[in-house]
Amino acid sequence: MSDDDFRPAQMIKERLQDRLRSEGALSVAAYMAEALFHPMAGFYATKDPLGAANDFITAPEISQMFGELLGLWAAECWMQMGAPSRFELIELGPGTGRMMSDMLRAGRAAPGFLDAVHVTLVEASPALKMVQGQTLANAPVPVHWAKDFEKTPSGPAVVIGNEFLDCLPIRQAVRHQGQWRERVVTLHPEDQDRFVFGLGPMLSDSDIGYIAPALRKSEDGALVELRPGDQQQMEQLANRFKRDPGYALFVDYGSAKPETGDTLQAIRAHQKVDPLDAPGTADLTAWVDFDRLLRLGLDAGLAAFGPMTQGEFLTELGIEQRAAVLSKSVDEAGQARLKRQMHRLVSPEDMGELFKLAAFSSDGLPPAPGIAPFSR
Ligand code: SAH
Repeated sequence: MSDDDFRPAQMIKERLQDRLRSEGALSVAAYMAEALFHPMAGFYATKDPLGAANDFITAPEISQMFGELLGLWAAECWMQMGAPSRFELIELGPGTGRMMSDMLRAGRAAPGFLDAVHVTLVEASPALKMVQGQTLANAPVPVHWAKDFEKTPSGPAVVIGNEFLDCLPIRQAVRHQGQWRERVVTLHPEDQDRFVFGLGPMLSDSDIGYIAPALRKSEDGALVELRPGDQQQMEQLANRFKRDPGYALFVDYGSAKPETGDTLQAIRAHQKVDPLDAPGTADLTAWVDFDRLLRLGLDAGLAAFGPMTQGEFLTELGIEQRAAVLSKSVDEAGQARLKRQMHRLVSPEDMGELFKLAAFSSDGLPPAPGIAPFSR
């Protein structure tokens, strides 16, 4: 097979069609998992989708200030844990590695931080792992990788994930004649070349447990999203933080309260596209329900903080002061660029309000820096 013969999009499409012919229907989660993480042809497996020239752009790619401020936040957490002589800095879904690189540079400001830190990146995509290796080749400390969170080294930790939870596969369910039915992906009955959504089996009682309680009795026609990945992440975090102290921070887009509605979106080359069109060639994500996430964290036994908007958080951490410092060493064009970057990150019309964060910690530690405790 020559390189020209390897067509990832065709491969994923045929694989999904084969599965649908034998299985009849797939959950939205199974569809998402194939489209994003098929080892040879999935969206994350085949390329580096991040950055201005690619499919989408994230906060750390917009400005170094984002990672720098989170680096200072992590250093503050480390100090609040008593500045242990070794601690784990774990990033979930590190993308290009840019954020970690900026975090470590900022970490220099905290005496002893870089001597104590041991970095592990949790990354599912082999292609992105290579990009991370390049970005961090000259990092002030060596970096390590783990395939999943449970395989990260034990010890006091700070865990960070930016735009990580949004790509965990979600399920969807539709209220139909007073029952919850799984929303599924099937082949179009007349055109087997196309994928369409349909109604699948009724949800079991344990599945209904994944729906936010406030939404469980929604009206007919309502669509809800089930996020088993969030629940699993909170349980794994709680298990870890029962053994070893730690703080965790998740930044993502989503709602502060549970809402019905379809938030599954596909982005290709910065454009919203149909999630069922050409799977594997677009990023598929869904909004995080921060209220639900925080409740799951509390239920799992964690202390929970937030939700807070990205704009408020970055302002609290001192983005204006950081921009002023950086502005001193650049020309006018550079200063204007810094202003634009700051505006994109914090202004409510841009990322400042839609993007939110939630933090967690093990019991018995001082509150997470800069974020008020969550109240039910
Ligand atoms: N944090 C980066 C990248 C966000 S894109 C940024 O803000 O720029 C999502 C990242 O999560 C990618 O690196 C993707 O490969 C990774 N990812 C998604 N699901 C994952 C999983 N289950 N385990 C590990 N990494 C995952």
